[in-house]
Amino acid sequence: MAASTANAGSLHVQLLSYDFNDETPDDGGQAARTLPLAPRSIALWKEIAAEAGEDLGIRTEGGLMLAEDAAGLEWLRRKSAMERRWGIESHVLGANELRSLAPALSERLVGADFVPAEGYGDPLRGTMAALQLARRAGAHILRGAEVRAIERNGAKWHVQTTKGTVTAGRVVNAAGPWAAHIGRMVGLELPVTGTVQQVIVTEPAPPMTKHLIALANRHLSLKQQASGGFLIGGGWFGGFDPAIGRTHNLRRNIEGNLWVCARALPVLKSLSFVRAWTGINSAIDRAPIIGEAPTLQGFFNAVSANGYTLGPIIGRLTADAIRGDPVEPCYRLDRFG
Ligand SMILES: Cc1cc2nc3c(=O)[nH]c(=O)nc-3n(C[C@H](O)[C@H](O)[C@H](O)COP(=O)(O)OP(=O)(O)OC[C@H]3O[C@@H](n4cnc5c(N)ncnc54)[C@H](O)[C@@H]3O)c2cc1C
Repeated sequence: MAASTANAGSLHVQLLSYDFNDETPDDGGQAARTLPLAPRSIALWKEIAAEAGEDLGIRTEGGLMLAEDAAGLEWLRRKSAMERRWGIESHVLGANELRSLAPALSERLVGADFVPAEGYGDPLRGTMAALQLARRAGAHILRGAEVRAIERNGAKWHVQTTKGTVTAGRVVNAAGPWAAHIGRMVGLELPVTGTVQQVIVTEPAPPMTKHLIALANRHLSLKQQASGGFLIGGGWFGGFDPAIGRTHNLRRNIEGNLWVCARALPVLKSLSFVRAWTGINSAIDRAPIIGEAPTLQGFFNAVSANGYTLGPIIGRLTADAIRGDPVEPCYRLDRFG
């Protein structure tokens, strides 16, 4: 399943557990350089919703990354300072403030990093709205057309697909985890791989949380949907069967994800989970790859890992790049040398 229809809909802003650790450089590295894109992208999601005439399930009541002990809280303090350094509004809350903001969370928690811009949306509604608006703006969609080869002839690119050849002055490679495969068709090495991620949903429960929730030093993303069900993820891997090219859930990782989740939200232990699914996400170096490929005039890449959050801003920056605007060096392909 492509990530845009399989993802968990979190609108991430703050650094995640795997973005900030002992190996992180003093300036925060690529994940920190990407921080300023997220609030801009969430603002664009809201514009998309307004233009589509529906809310797309978007709720931005803030995100909480929770600490279970003093060491976790100290780590959150350092992480929050890094976020503020990159212009993100980020506050460290103590246990009492956390309890009054989110009373359903575990009483064992000692504090949190609170980032007001975070939230979530409904990924299926969001993707469908983007598709409809693109059509309304004149985009032609060739569904089920697999790109088999790309050739350049002068200033023109010829993209050979299973539904015929498309000729264009500019091509954008937005093939997510398959972007490296598309890149190789034009002799380009893209450092993009794929990871299988899984998402779990529970039975509906009365309203308990309105925040996007994560846990310090653990893999967790958690939010309660409008339907009442909790959507649980956070980068737990699923499996991949190369013989049939399909992804599948891993029982041990469903159990692990639910165990971590219950540490944040104890009520989860009394809920049944009703469904779990998987999808393949792009993996890069924690920053997107945007802009024209250095040696290939007219060939652009637009690939990102936190792509549900960042999709709109990556689209905007790609359109700007096509019009000739420069792309920040930290997002360009030539950063890899
Ligand atoms: C389970 C899961 C949960 C996630 N949760 C979140 C989240 O909560 N928040 C968040 O911000 N991000 C999340 N992500 C990441 C996010 O969903 C992706 O980064 C984003 O959707 C990537 O969008 P994309 O359009 O670049 O790639 P994709 O949605 O993967 O689309 C790539 C498209 O390229 C097509 N393609 C590939 N090769 C070819 C070819 N040869 N010819 C034609 N077409 C081709 C594919 O069929 C596919 O449709 C999650 C991802 C997964 C898998």
